[in-house]
Amino acid sequence: MIVAKFGGTSVSSRESILTICEIVKNQKNLDLVVVVSALSGITDLLLSLPSLPKYKFQAEIRRLKNTHKELINKVFKDPKEQKRVMQFVDEKVNEILKLNLNNQKKTLDKLCSFGEIISSYIVANALDQNGIKSFQVLATDLIVTNDNFGSADFILEPTKRNVKSILTPIIKRGIVPVVTGFIGSTTSGQVTTLGRGGSDYTASIIGFCLGVKEIQIWTDVDGMFTADPRLVTTARSLPVVSFKEAAEMATFGARVLHPRTIHPAIKAGIPVRVLNTFNPKSHGTLIIKEVKTSKAIRSISFKRKITLVNIYSTEMLLQRGFLARVFKIFGSNDLSIDLVSVSEVSISVSLDNDGGLVNAVKQLSSFTSVSIIKDLGMVSLIGEGVTSSSQTIKKIFDILDKEQILVRMVSLGATNINISLVIESDKVEKAVKVLHERLLFASSGIIASK
Ligand code: ADP
Ligand code: ASP
Ligand code: MG
Repeated sequence: MIVAKFGGTSVSSRESILTICEIVKNQKNLDLVVVVSALSGITDLLLSLPSLPKYKFQAEIRRLKNTHKELINKVFKDPKEQKRVMQFVDEKVNEILKLNLNNQKKTLDKLCSFGEIISSYIVANALDQNGIKSFQVLATDLIVTNDNFGSADFILEPTKRNVKSILTPIIKRGIVPVVTGFIGSTTSGQVTTLGRGGSDYTASIIGFCLGVKEIQIWTDVDGMFTADPRLVTTARSLPVVSFKEAAEMATFGARVLHPRTIHPAIKAGIPVRVLNTFNPKSHGTLIIKEVKTSKAIRSISFKRKITLVNIYSTEMLLQRGFLARVFKIFGSNDLSIDLVSVSEVSISVSLDNDGGLVNAVKQLSSFTSVSIIKDLGMVSLIGEGVTSSSQTIKKIFDILDKEQILVRMVSLGATNINISLVIESDKVEKAVKVLHERLLFASSGIIASK
């Protein structure tokens, strides 16, 4: 059995939907579960609705309908079919119009679930039209999550039960389930989302629950690259990547995979393959447990907008439980920390998302002095063994120094797999390009020397 997830661009044109049909046909004998994202740009459109003035709101609702209508008219030949599929879209848009819209996370999750609900209906019908029996399945019936709206996580036991009891009979009848990516529901039936880009995670959750042979992530590039190919034109696709490397690349900014995707795969030892819907013959990237490679640095990830929080306190000296007290405040304000650096009197932490920081600073200020630096970025150099040679680290600093890029914070991952540097946000692109050029392109990579 295989799970194949198709991202936004893969479901946005007639040609790519026809490619999906081909990919499914070619693997049908393996028993397939399909997971789909919303059409490109639709999640952003839906999320913007509550903030729009009335005239703009109506224009965006029209754009929502038209984007789907144009696709439907190209994908389905029979006008009756076009009408039937479009009727489903109209029904869903009417449901959206009935929502009491606001910017609360709970409402936004319900609102943006419609993107995947509509796309999965279109893809399921397109498969049927191409002679592949399929059935739309809403992940709200499968994936049970906690109530962390906006970035919920799945609860294993009930999810496994649902996935097995709902998907297995469909697959056994030779029908391909087409599942909505990105969404789930709480035990009380409220719609949740798994975080932006979460359809990858949906695929790996389902893959884990069914114990599949492979999880396929079909996207718009030839796999995982040495750097984001949109930024670095000389970036190359990596044929094989280890679970650890892939997880680190995704966590530190490579959008090609949702950061949590790899966790269920690691737990169950399921290989993940990242493939290109627009170049299906390309080998893509195979992600497996162990990879033999001599290159320390395999890939560079980056984040453009991070916040650095510096916390000083002389009370910290020789005091037990001080760090725990500080981290508890971050946790209780829903702040997830990326990097940490600690000295005897200070702690620096970097945050990817600083919603909730105002409250945390208030609490921290009662026993520490806090300063915040915004508009920073982070560049992470990733590869098994990357921190094992001080030569590697020296070379990185030499390159940045030459470009007059100041490093505000460094973190050498204890897992020996990641060096992350915090720099000015407007220097991120330059840093990624020169580091890639010097460490991954010009040379054949740095050899890790023990
Ligand atoms: P999908 O809609 O298929 O989920 P995404 O846009 O979420 O696709 O992810 C694919 C994009 O990820 C690529 O177009 C690429 O620009 C970006 N990306 C960032 N870092 C990397 C990387 N290291 N390797 C490959 N792609 C990357
Ligand atoms: N449609 C969702 C998003 O744009 C989920 C995904 O694409 O994986 O974030
Ligand atoms: Mg994605």
